[in-house]
Amino acid sequence: MVETTYKGIKVEGCGKGRATWYLYTDLCKGCGLCIVKCPINNKGEKCLNWSNEVGIYMTPAVQPDPNLCIACGTCEMVCPDSAIRVEKNQ
Ligand code: SF4
Ligand code: SF4
Repeated sequence: MVETTYKGIKVEGCGKGRATWYLYTDLCKGCGLCIVKCPINNKGEKCLNWSNEVGIYMTPAVQPDPNLCIACGTCEMVCPDSAIRVEKNQ
């Protein structure tokens, strides 16, 4: 069995504690599409933003502010490289 492990960013407590947000830095190419599409960002707030962590091309990765993120999953859906996962808590 082959197991692949990814480096990443884990942000707990998103969506009022209902979800955990993950970013796989080995997949993020820093295109910024998720930042543009985040509905909270589009309301003028800084929810999803550039991170101090870097992605696959050494460009900044992204991470959300858990106090603003509503765990809508838009960033996960729009990422062309499947770098984001928004996991609802059981
Ligand atoms: S889950 Fe929704 S609110 Fe949270 S960072 Fe992604 S697009 Fe923004
Ligand atoms: S997470 Fe996806 S959409 Fe967002 S910057 Fe990285 S590659 Fe682009």
